[in-house]
Amino acid sequence: MIRNDHFLKDSEDWLISNLAALRTRYPATESHTQECRKEWNRRLCEAALIALSWPKEYGGRELPTATLIAFHELCARMGAPQPINSIAHSILAPTLLRFGTPEQKSRFLPGILNGTEIWCQGYSEPLTGSDLSSVHTRARPASDGWEVNGRKIWTTQAHLAKWCFALVRTEPGSKAHRGLSFMLIDMEAQGVLVEPIRQMTGEADYNEIVFEAALVTPDNILGATGEGWKIAMAAAEYERGIYFLPRVIQLESELEQLKAALAQAALPPSEHAIHSHRVQNLEDQCQIVRWRVDRMLQQVAQGDTPGINGAMLKLTWSEVRQRIWELRLELLGEQAIIAPNSNGEYAVPSSVQREFLWSRAETIVAGTSEIQRNIVGERLLGLPKDKA
Ligand SMILES: Cc1cc2nc3c(=O)[nH]c(=O)nc-3n(C[C@H](O)[C@H](O)[C@H](O)COP(=O)(O)OP(=O)(O)OC[C@H]3O[C@@H](n4cnc5c(N)ncnc54)[C@H](O)[C@@H]3O)c2cc1C
Repeated sequence: MIRNDHFLKDSEDWLISNLAALRTRYPATESHTQECRKEWNRRLCEAALIALSWPKEYGGRELPTATLIAFHELCARMGAPQPINSIAHSILAPTLLRFGTPEQKSRFLPGILNGTEIWCQGYSEPLTGSDLSSVHTRARPASDGWEVNGRKIWTTQAHLAKWCFALVRTEPGSKAHRGLSFMLIDMEAQGVLVEPIRQMTGEADYNEIVFEAALVTPDNILGATGEGWKIAMAAAEYERGIYFLPRVIQLESELEQLKAALAQAALPPSEHAIHSHRVQNLEDQCQIVRWRVDRMLQQVAQGDTPGINGAMLKLTWSEVRQRIWELRLELLGEQAIIAPNSNGEYAVPSSVQREFLWSRAETIVAGTSEIQRNIVGERLLGLPKDKA
């Protein structure tokens, strides 16, 4: 695999100084906040570190995929936050580069490159989640484009987004994955309403979007009308690849934090031995995740899609991560019930609580564990197909 080592060395230097500057305003326990992630996005944009593998004509650096992977790995190892527009960087942009017209690329890529246009992903609906092909949101032809009606839900960052890429039914009466189109919807258009949903962490990063005769112009359909499923499936593979990578790499540092917490915990020896055994087991699981990541990255660097390996990785990673944070919370003892507050007094317990609560979502987001098990069962083990 060809890597640009000069670029990576420069990037490492840049990361050291910029992360130090970021940490003066946002400590590591605030990495997940919108403010911190916005600031990190801005710094990456200013340093031209968004479009590493894009063609030069769209402002990219045309670096090989292996370098792109190594850069993301470096960011994750150094504890960099997830930039606020990562959905656009890692899912929408590669999809647009593959399926977009030259006009669409020229229209949408600059806003991602300079960080002025945030994107969200509009797939799930109140009645459509795991079975994505049963999309109910529909569009009908209007004089100047398409008129969209329906609802999307759990839409991450819709309240910040300028654009939403969404699956919409454009052929009346069509069933399942036929008759769907991949639309690029202006979130500031008339008829688009965004209602935030409060999560158990207390944050409100998710939203319900209501479309009431929202207009989408014909040039804002990616690919051919009615062929949205093919594009959504390609985008899902990108989601499994680079978008997912930092979260998996982060797992190793979370395991190290768990080990440190156990070493510091004042526990009777018998209890300590039980927890040490659990940590050892998690360490073994993390090693399996590491091997799967390496395999997936090799596939991605060779231009393949993660496929079944992505499903197994998502399954193992999300479940191991939940167990790591369960044990972290247990080790806190009575401090685990301290309510998060804003004065920083209980910063560590608060951040453990937050990660524990957040980790419950990991076995749901981007395909539930049950669905990943179905994929592994059907495609790898050859078990009978799920008819649900
Ligand atoms: C943190 C987070 C962020 C998200 N962000 C976005 C976003 O930005 N955009 C977006 O479009 N969506 C987003 N989602 C939604 C997510 O994609 C869906 O929650 C997920 O696909 C599951 O769909 P559902 O919630 O409708 O559950 P359902 O599909 O209704 O499933 C309910 C339960 O039934 C099980 N189940 C369903 N079908 C089967 C089956 N065939 N076999 C066995 N079990 C089955 C599921 O595993 C689950 O336990 C997000 C979700 C989370 C948690």
